[in-house]
Amino acid sequence: MENRSNLQSELLQALPYGVALIQKDGTIVQANRPFMEQFPENLQTKSNLFHMVNQSPITMELSRRMEQGLPWMYELPTMRVHAIPWEEGYILSIEPLPLDTRVTIQHNAFEAMMHTELDMAMIMTDANLLITRFNQGATELFGYAPHEVLYEMTPFALFESRELSEKRTNYQDEMERLLSFEQMLRVALDKGDREWKFQRKDRTHFVGKLFMHPVYEQEQLVGFFFFVFDVSSEIQLKGELQHKEQRYRMFAESVIEAVLFHENGMILDANKAAETIFRIPADEMVGRQTIEFIAEGYRADVLRRIRNHIQTPYEVIGRREDGTFLEMEVYPKEVTYQGQTLRVAVMRDISDRKKIERMLEREKNAIARQRDIIQSILQASNEAFVLTESNGSVLFMNVHARRLMDLPGIAPNKIQERIPLLSTFRPRDRSEMLKKMDILLDGTAREVSMRFSIPQPNDRDEQYYEMYGTSMDTKRQIGMDSGYLFVFRNRTEEERMDQIKNELVSTVSHELRTPLSSLSGYIELMLNRELTPDKRERFLKTMSKEAKRLTDLLNDFLDIQRMEDGHQEYKRNHFSLNELVREVVERFRETGDHSIHFDDAEKPLFLIADRARIEQVLVNLISNAIKYSPNSHEVEVRIRHERNQAHVSIKDYGIGIPEHAFEQLFQKFYRVDNSDTRQIGGTGLGLSICKEIIESHGGSIEVESTVGEGSTFTFTLDIAEETP
Ligand code: ADP
Repeated sequence: MENRSNLQSELLQALPYGVALIQKDGTIVQANRPFMEQFPENLQTKSNLFHMVNQSPITMELSRRMEQGLPWMYELPTMRVHAIPWEEGYILSIEPLPLDTRVTIQHNAFEAMMHTELDMAMIMTDANLLITRFNQGATELFGYAPHEVLYEMTPFALFESRELSEKRTNYQDEMERLLSFEQMLRVALDKGDREWKFQRKDRTHFVGKLFMHPVYEQEQLVGFFFFVFDVSSEIQLKGELQHKEQRYRMFAESVIEAVLFHENGMILDANKAAETIFRIPADEMVGRQTIEFIAEGYRADVLRRIRNHIQTPYEVIGRREDGTFLEMEVYPKEVTYQGQTLRVAVMRDISDRKKIERMLEREKNAIARQRDIIQSILQASNEAFVLTESNGSVLFMNVHARRLMDLPGIAPNKIQERIPLLSTFRPRDRSEMLKKMDILLDGTAREVSMRFSIPQPNDRDEQYYEMYGTSMDTKRQIGMDSGYLFVFRNRTEEERMDQIKNELVSTVSHELRTPLSSLSGYIELMLNRELTPDKRERFLKTMSKEAKRLTDLLNDFLDIQRMEDGHQEYKRNHFSLNELVREVVERFRETGDHSIHFDDAEKPLFLIADRARIEQVLVNLISNAIKYSPNSHEVEVRIRHERNQAHVSIKDYGIGIPEHAFEQLFQKFYRVDNSDTRQIGGTGLGLSICKEIIESHGGSIEVESTVGEGSTFTFTLDIAEETP
């Protein structure tokens, strides 16, 4: 046994190729060096060939064959393997084959690939297309263990059979000849038809990308390499992406907004609308900076937004390729695509919208301004204004209207509901007003008006109004579509003037008639009678007085007329006030029955004024004092000097003036309305002429009075230097 085993051992070592004696379970009994060198792992005697970490398809196939106890031979492109049953085990020889460089390279590459963890099926066949190698990737992809396919199946068994036959039919038709599956595959792959449907062991299908390489050895076809990798998920993804891309394109091209894709500001893609908006072909935008399409002053801000990943929309001034500008609204959005952060900027040209907005804004401001102006005019106006909607609801009331139509508590908003509640109005006026409003509101009339008056608690000063209502449907400038404008004009003053004028007519005719009838009476007497010289003189004096009354009266009329028209001219002279007053007092002393006291100032006072006009004031005031004190004979005239002013006062002990009349006393035609005054007679012009003259000289005139006790009129003027 010893010798035999030695012999065996030496024999083994002598052989130029690898030989080993192995037991059926794969345990190496003896092996020579070339054999050991065939295996990448550090194989030792007693190691088990079938327990190697990297089980090759060959060793796996070997173990299967050995179980059956049959001899087996297998050829690889680089070696031939023989397994010959021997005693309890096998003699295994690995005989290297002469090398074909091309095949070796391919083979080595294949081997290298077989051992890398590529997610791909690698299948090798012999020339008859019988599978000879089947890698881990193939097992994973197809679900077959290597021993199920090696030397049992051709790769065609791995294809989905229906598609395979259909494609063969198609290619046969195309080539106009019969094709074997192998030929058909070559034709198909030549044409780039790489995607095929495959079938797994569990009969499920997947789409794989196929590569097929024939392997030649010394010009002889020895087999094929097949590579298959699953692309179904990829295809699905591609389909989805294509779909999405299409959708995106369609969307991007159909929107009127410019859509720019950019990475850190560099444009990657732009749509059709971007061409229109920025006036540059989209492909010319690619590669340029987004901020080139932003007006210079705004670039820093846009860059800041890009750098800080700000995604809030903003408005900015854009710059077109031709250098013109536009207003845009930008909606930025960041998207992460394959680990890369991109920014999509959707930009809308809002120049037109902005223009319209600005126009509207201007229009709005103009309307608001107009409305403000109108409202302030309405507020400032003396009239009461009420604006209502077409149903009568109040839109606006100015202060006067509020005062006029004030109601305690919550007032109804409609004017026609408010009117009946106004207790200050007379019932008769209220019902007439409602009737007028009704015919206006129901469209029967476009304008209504009426006069009414509101009695006051003190029984005097009754307030007179004129109501005027008009439809506003064409008066859009007020800022309302339709409605009504009601104006309540306070015409109390007018009414008073009317009354005064009416009185004036009777006063004046009375005032004129009295001296005229007395004059004509005396003239008749003198014509028809023989008169004594005494009588004659008395009559003539009276006639002269009456004529003077007439002249004064007419002069007063003319004066007030001139003053009102602004034609009155004053001549300014330097004169002594004391002398003037003394002169006038003297004259009254000569003609009248009243005793006139004159209390002069302590020192001479001078004025620069129209002497004749100041004299007129003095005459008016002294004649009033005499006229309105029928039961007293005292009149006091006094000059006082205070600071730079002279105060001249005329005091009487006559009928006096009620306090309520003080305010109107100096108005033209105003006369205190009582029996005494009526009896005394007058035009109501004197005091208004006095006031006009004094105020024109920069002075003032005042009254103090008590009814039944007397009155004091005082005027004040600035004094001048003693010498002009
Ligand atoms: P006339 O005397 O012609 O009526 P005036 O303008 O001089 O007009 O006076 C206006 C009114 O003022 C008079 O009608 C009278 O009622 C009142 N009045 C003026 N002076 C006096 C006075 N000294 N005493 C009482 N009432 C006076």
